[in-house]
Amino acid sequence: MTRRVDLRSDTVTQPTPAMRAAMADAIVGDDGYGEDPTVSALEARYAQLVGKPAAVFVPSGVMANQIAVRVLTQPGDVIIAGRDQHVVSYEMGASARNSSVQFATVDDSSGSLPLDAVVERIDAEFDHQAHVSMIALENTHMPSGGTPWDVDELRRLARAIGDRPIHMDGARLFNAVIATGTPAADYTQNVTTVMTCLSKGLCAPVGSLLAGSATLMEAARVERKRLGGAMRQAGILAAAGIVALDTMIERLAEDHVRARALAELFASAFPESGYDPSSCRTNIVAFNHPQARQIIEELAARGVEGGTVAPRRVRFVTHAQISDDDVTYVAEVLASFRPSR
Ligand SMILES: *Cc1c(COP(=O)(O)O)cnc(C)c1O
Repeated sequence: MTRRVDLRSDTVTQPTPAMRAAMADAIVGDDGYGEDPTVSALEARYAQLVGKPAAVFVPSGVMANQIAVRVLTQPGDVIIAGRDQHVVSYEMGASARNSSVQFATVDDSSGSLPLDAVVERIDAEFDHQAHVSMIALENTHMPSGGTPWDVDELRRLARAIGDRPIHMDGARLFNAVIATGTPAADYTQNVTTVMTCLSKGLCAPVGSLLAGSATLMEAARVERKRLGGAMRQAGILAAAGIVALDTMIERLAEDHVRARALAELFASAFPESGYDPSSCRTNIVAFNHPQARQIIEELAARGVEGGTVAPRRVRFVTHAQISDDDVTYVAEVLASFRPSR
């Protein structure tokens, strides 16, 4: 039997035994009436972690991003964002469909947003171009390989754009926190709204959180309902989320160490990719290769599963279900691996 090492995504993680126990024992109520104490506790815990007055529990990261867009824009507005960000490229055009907005994209191949390009687009309002109502950024930035933002760079951006809101897609915010040592609240001090997924490296089964001012989060609750995301006895899910925030953040460091080990292995197995393993700073290995889809298919046949995130770009993600033995197995597979054509 070949071993199976599932590096497709950190969304494949299973809830921990502590989460299942907390879910079984959760005190719940109808969150539609604001009566689920476990949901309220989770929202308060996240708001405190990210230093915002309020937070809202939602079913998914996409919904958190979509609600942020709804509360921070008007139809016809422009959102400046990195070309490869989730909200631009991986949400099935949801921002256009839900909020009738358009994106002005900038080059985010480094993982951050080029300040000059952002300021230039805002300045273009003077030249009869559409109103820029928000800036969206991603921390960590998935497509570039899980790149964490430098908090000083974020501060410079926030200062340069004045009072325009910034939404941080922090699906993997705590990976950035662990990788850089920057406290979550230091990052989020510079943004208007922030969202984080509980269901990725933090291993909760379902859910994401959006945080911001009390007024914005009140509006967010209305938009959540409009999008069909208001839930009832959701404390069953929130209970696992509390365990995630309380116990699963520090251990992300292990995922980062294993990702870096994999990065070294992939860099030497595919020198033609020009992949620099030192660019792997969190839990994502991503690089370009002309035979990306073939490599993914042929590695999967040997039990090493990854994915592609763009044509000719492969991605492998570490998470709590990946062990040192799995890394050793990947090393063995890669030692003799060549694409067949
Ligand atoms: C996964 C992800 C999302 C969306 O989260 P879902 O819970 O899958 O809807 C948003 N942004 C980024 C950067 C992500 O990686």
